[in-house]
Amino acid sequence: MIINIPKGTKDILPSESYKWQWLESRIRETAARYGFKEIRTPMFEHTELFARGIGDTTDVVQKEMYTFEIAERSLTLKPEGTAGVVRSYIENKLYAEPQPGKYFYIIPCFRYEKMQKGRQRQFHQFGIEIFGSENMMADAEVIGLAWDFLTGLGITDLKLHINSIGCPNCRGEYRKALQDFLRPHYDELSETSKGRFEKNPMRILDSKDPDDKKFSEGAPRMIDYLCDECKAAFEDLKNDLDALGIPYEVDPNIVRGLDYYTKTAFEFISEDLGAQSTVCGGGRYDHLVEEVGGPYTPAVGFGMGLERLLLILEAKGIEIPKPAGCDVFIATLGERPKTFGLKFAKDLRAKGYSVLTDVMGRGLKAQLKYADRSDARYTVVIGDDELEKGVVTLRDMDNSTQKEIAIDKIEEEIHR
Ligand code: ATP
Ligand code: MG
Repeated sequence: MIINIPKGTKDILPSESYKWQWLESRIRETAARYGFKEIRTPMFEHTELFARGIGDTTDVVQKEMYTFEIAERSLTLKPEGTAGVVRSYIENKLYAEPQPGKYFYIIPCFRYEKMQKGRQRQFHQFGIEIFGSENMMADAEVIGLAWDFLTGLGITDLKLHINSIGCPNCRGEYRKALQDFLRPHYDELSETSKGRFEKNPMRILDSKDPDDKKFSEGAPRMIDYLCDECKAAFEDLKNDLDALGIPYEVDPNIVRGLDYYTKTAFEFISEDLGAQSTVCGGGRYDHLVEEVGGPYTPAVGFGMGLERLLLILEAKGIEIPKPAGCDVFIATLGERPKTFGLKFAKDLRAKGYSVLTDVMGRGLKAQLKYADRSDARYTVVIGDDELEKGVVTLRDMDNSTQKEIAIDKIEEEIHR
């Protein structure tokens, strides 16, 4: 029986994995420049954490989680990164360390969704979080890092959309206005949206249901209901982005409609992605740490989809550098040369060279053919007679020249 890969997942083969490694090293380099430290949390958490952390009126929690029971506990594979980091921040009392706490992660995420281009069931995110700052400079730094990272990769036509979704202070009045607006159509809303009408009506604006969309048209906008503090914060953010020279568009339709999300919401959108156009989404969540049981700690962060990022790079024809082939292939003919070659490979590897030798027991001709295909820079051919004389044949694979050379001169030669 052939066992296939689960739907919505992908193998990352060596022909692709170098791209991931390259991307990850760019992420680590960017995070280091901004002073973010890596945090690694478990692949699964108690289901309750996500229900509270992401919000139990969201699609992710209501429909998309990989939840399983074991020993009468309900556990869930991470659908996103923030909740786990928040749990860890509280549990390890990271709030007692000098603030702000600045963390980044590169993780697989799991969501049971319909497969589409740029939409998988296991996908990967680069995320960052800043804890402890109420100041909009933190938001500007989070957005600035994403901008710096993405433009640094050569993606220069991204659109940054920003919005403010207010705070518990101003959201009450807005909520009422939104409910009043939607109420005449309550019976015609989707079942999911009916369920959200009382608990979290802002989520209805995010619905993909065509009827919900129709009735949401012309709905009141949070941005028109902001309290003085939220208004001032939004002005601060815009000023900071201006100072950083980062272009943006105010988009009142961005809803990250969770109760704990506050003020800043933003998305980076790419025209290269088709329907799944958002490559990075983030915002402020001043009340999440409290909600999960910690002390009041304002926070802001983003999550960036790495599959979508690679799709953009591909669409733009941005080349990811291929790793170099190996330095030396050692081909041998005869028993004594074979043993010598084994040891010689070990010595060269100890000096830092990447070395391939035959482990298939092939004849010399087949070894040389393999050497040709393995992108080796040099091939060393060792035969019995030559070994007797203390020489080998060194073949320069780039220009197909070869010469006899003393064994103890090889390193000097290939080092050049
Ligand atoms: P979408 O509206 O596309 O479903 P989302 O709002 O659910 O996105 P977030 O929870 O904000 O996405 O996750 C942050 C980023 O992670 C997204 O902008 C996207 O790049 C990526 N992402 C989310 N879900 C998937 C998925 N199923 N497959 C691949 N990437 C994803
Ligand atoms: Mg989604």
